[in-house]
Order: sequence, then C-alpha cells, then structure tokens
Amino acid sequence: MSDTATLYNRSAAETARTTSPGSALPPTVRHIVVVGGGSAGWMTAMILARSLIERGVEITVVESPTVGIIGVGEGSTPWLRGFFDSLGIEEAEWMPECHATYKCGITFDGWSTKPGFESYFHPFASMLDNLTMTQFVHNADARVNGADVCAHPDRFFIAARLSRKNLAPKPAEHFPFDIWHGYHFDAVLLGQFLQKKALQRGVRYQTAHVTHANLDAHGGIASISTQEGLEIAADIFVDCTGFAGLLINQALKTPYVSFAENLFNDSAIAMPTPIGDTVPSQTVSTAMKHGWAWRIPLTHRFGNGYVYSSQFCTADQAEHELRERLGLLESDTPARHLKMKIGRVTKHWNRNCVAVGLSQGFIEPLEATALLFIQQTAAAFTEALLQGDISDAAHDRFNARVNEHFEGTRDYIVTHYKTNSRKDTDYWRANAANLNLSDPLKQLLSLWMSGKGIGPPVRKQVLGRGYPVFSWYSIMAGMGIFPEAGDLHPPQGKENTYRVAEIDNLLDRSAANYRDHREVLMNIPPRRNAESLQVYFW
Ligand SMILES: Cc1cc2nc3c(=O)[nH]c(=O)nc-3n(C[C@H](O)[C@H](O)[C@H](O)COP(=O)(O)OP(=O)(O)OC[C@H]3O[C@@H](n4cnc5c(N)ncnc54)[C@H](O)[C@@H]3O)c2cc1C
Repeated sequence: MSDTATLYNRSAAETARTTSPGSALPPTVRHIVVVGGGSAGWMTAMILARSLIERGVEITVVESPTVGIIGVGEGSTPWLRGFFDSLGIEEAEWMPECHATYKCGITFDGWSTKPGFESYFHPFASMLDNLTMTQFVHNADARVNGADVCAHPDRFFIAARLSRKNLAPKPAEHFPFDIWHGYHFDAVLLGQFLQKKALQRGVRYQTAHVTHANLDAHGGIASISTQEGLEIAADIFVDCTGFAGLLINQALKTPYVSFAENLFNDSAIAMPTPIGDTVPSQTVSTAMKHGWAWRIPLTHRFGNGYVYSSQFCTADQAEHELRERLGLLESDTPARHLKMKIGRVTKHWNRNCVAVGLSQGFIEPLEATALLFIQQTAAAFTEALLQGDISDAAHDRFNARVNEHFEGTRDYIVTHYKTNSRKDTDYWRANAANLNLSDPLKQLLSLWMSGKGIGPPVRKQVLGRGYPVFSWYSIMAGMGIFPEAGDLHPPQGKENTYRVAEIDNLLDRSAANYRDHREVLMNIPPRRNAESLQVYFW
C-alpha cells in the first residue's frame, strides 16, 4: 500500500510544524482578538495560545453577554482526538466533564431501499482495517462489475462490529490495535471546559457585545466597538460569531457561496431523551420524510434532532414527525428550532480577519464535520503566522486549501442524498434527481458505474480533500450502488478471491479484545503511545 495516506499523521505533523523552533512570527502581530465564545472561539483560542502566548502574543476572547452559543454539535470526527492530544489534555480529564462518549462511526438507517443495503455503517478507520481493506475494495469493484460477492461495508470493518455490540474502541492492554475514534459530547459543557482551560493557559476574556467594526485606511479592521462603550484594537481579528459573521460578513462584506442548490436542508430541531443502561458507541442517522434524524448517546442522555428542508415541510410538521419517532407526542419536553445557513465564504482569511466556525461556513451536520473545520482552519492559520507569512499569496494559499476541504466534504455529503433510492416523498425524489453536482463528483459517480474503480480520482482530486478512498467506497457500497441482484453472475476466477467467513472470524476474534462501552467510560484509560495509533487508509 505504497500510496496510502495517514490522515491522522498529517494532523500530528501539523502540530509539530506549529511548534517548531525558529519560526518567524511577523513582528506586527502582538494582539489577536477572537470575537465569539462558542466552540469555534474557544478551540481557536486554545490552538493560537499553544504556540503564540509563549512568543509574547496577547490573545483575547470577546463574547456577548446577550447572544448565546448555538449549543448543538455533539458529535465529532477522530480529529478531535488530535486536538486534545496536541494540547496535552487527557480523555480522563475532559470526557467526564462533558458527559462524553466514544464514537466508532455512524450508522445510516433507511437511506437506501435496495434489498440488503437498508442500513450501513460508515466506520472510522483503524489499524485492523489494513487487514480487510483490500478485500473490501476488491469485492466492491467485483460487484459493480456484476459478480455476486459480498460487498457490504459492515462485514469488513472492526468499528462496525464494536458499535453493533456497544463496545468501546479501547482494546485490552495486551491488544495492540487501537482505533482512531471520534466522540460525542455535550456542546455547552465542551465550551465551558475549553474556556476554563484557555483561561488557565493565559487567554484573556472580555464580556462585551460588539456593535460594529471600525475599518482602517486599507479596508482592514482597526478595532471593534462594543455596547458597553469599549473600543478594542488588535492586529488580527478572528470572527467566531457564528452564523452572524459579524466581522467577515457584516464588516468586510466577504462574498458568500451558498450550497443551497446542492444541499436542501436548512432547518433543524433538537430534543433530548433519557438514556438507559446501554450506551451505544455510534451515532445513528435515520432517514425521515423530509430529512434525517440524529441520535447521539451521551453518558446522561440521548441528543436527538431532525435536520430537514423547509422547502418540503413546515417546522410544525417536522416537530410532529420527530416527536412521534421519539415517543414524545404527549410530552412537554421542549424542542429547539434552528435555522442553518449552508455554504461558505470565499475568503476565510480576508485582510486582517480570519473566520472560524459557523461564520466561515457550514455544511450540514450529517457527518459531524464542523469542529474539524474549526480545528483545521485555526491550525492552518497559526502555521501561516509562525512561518511569518501574512502576504496576499499566503492568504490565497490558505483560502484555496480551506475551500478545497469545504468542496470535498460537501460533495461527500451530497452523495448521501444523490444515491438515495427512497421514493416515498418529494424530498427524496428531488434529492435523487438533483443535477447540481460538482464536476469531480459527476466524474466519480460515472466512474463507479463504469466499474473502473474510484481510487485514483479521489486521491488526485479535490474529493480526497474531504474524505479518503475507503469512505467513498463505504458510501457507494453501503448504499448498494451495484447492479440489481437478478443481474449478478456467480463470481469467477479472481472475483472469487476472498472468503467473507474468514473475515467474519478475524473480526469476531478481534472484537473479543474490546470492552463494554459504559464500563470503559467509568474508568477511562490513559492515552496510549502514539505509535499504536497509526491508521493507514486508502
Ligand atoms: C443542527 C446542528 C447540528 C450540528 N451538529 C454538529 C455535530 O454533530 N458536529 C459538529 O462538529 N458540528 C455540528 N454542528 C456545528 C456546530 O454546532 C458549530 O460548528 C460549533 O458549535 C461552533 O459554533 P460557533 O462557535 O461558530 O458559533 P456559536 O456557537 O453560535 O457561537 C457564537 C459566539 O459568538 C458570540 N457573538 C455573537 N454575536 C456577538 C457580538 N455581537 N458580540 C460579541 N460576541 C458575539 C456569541 O455570544 C457566541 O459566543 C451542528 C450545527 C447545527 C446547526
């Protein structure tokens, strides 16, 4: 596997670069103001603080006393582990404070109606997957070409086994295969935890409601004015004001690219329900009439929600459907209704302002990618500062990199909708018929149908900036994008290379080394040696 990429090693490398000695921080950067104290504000402050406070840069978070945080966003990708690791914060410290649980991946229920593919699991990769990935890709390619072989992703990945059995992705001491997992957590508590840590590490905090930004002669931001009568000057401003985009949007008028034609969902409802003795180690995303419902396990409750399109149903209809699903029709449990703006700014770094979080853009929460964008944007910006390059060319490189990540991720999310085979509502039919696809995505879909294998275009193109090859195989195979069962032929020659029963055996034996999720949460093990965390993927 010479061309495998280690996504998570790339994260570690980034960390190393941002802390490398001899960096040339521009002398004009002495004070950075982060406006906003949601997850984006505090994560950014922590990432900046890690490298810049020791170099004499002052970092201040300014947060409105009247505007709340969005308070949703309870699932992560595995990158969040890299965030905490790079800050030297152990799981045993932050997870209990945030009622956090482990996440092995996401089950997609009811997105496909193809027999045998009504549900599939999108796993986070693990070292063990190196033993089964070749077989999975081989069989998926063979099935696209008409061979009747097993190519359902759930049969090939250890993470699917663990989540089916409510096991934690933490192996017994003697077993060397750690799994690169994500987390579920209470978003409000995570913000409070990060704030506490940031203040301990020297970040300053100012409660004040920013009314407007004052521009300098070059069109950059000289200072911000607040309702309390303060005027706060800084060299760099980070806009973490959520969908308002107070600085990047309202002050600098940065153009915005809407994804509304690619992704129809623009609204959401959130409601908690109690959790029993069993704590699942996965998110479940279930197709609904006009969108999908999430179910996220925390240690003390489930977080539930419905993400839907207001073009296809009203807020009342959506709430009724969600309550019915949760058995809460007669309950007075309050429902939170939210609007979502789907798209991105064209320049995440514009003059002396960087937008991080919802202010820079949002791709709906289907794969829980927003915190990853926060982390990567803040890390890439810190890296640029440490390289001493705040030139226009550096802005362009940075913006191109973040935009590619947005586009690649958007296309992966669009694929869930485009490949759906539901026929029950206008919403699902419109999604399947939607022709507003990017050129790389169109190419990928037609390549899959032609049976030529999708590895090379994903590796080479922007699609791979969002998700690696094995995720693309998982979604296409998981949705059952294969010839109809009646058109399949018995496998012949090379098509018949692998025995799925042997893989079942391997995975079952491996799964026996992992323990019950709730049990592990009650005694969270210390961080393992980084060597054991290397995860290779296609
Ligand atoms: C339905 C839904 C589900 C989601 N699920 C996930 C998920 O599973 N995983 C994931 O990674 N992400 C998810 N997200 C996204 C995630 O919630 C956000 O990316 C994350 O919370 C960061 O938000 P933020 O900090 O950018 O904005 P906010 O939380 O909105 O914070 C904005 C901050 O700006 C401050 N502010 C605003 N105006 C002013 C002003 N005038 N002066 C001073 N301060 C001001 C506010 O006080 C607040 O502190 C979801 C989002 C939605 C809508």
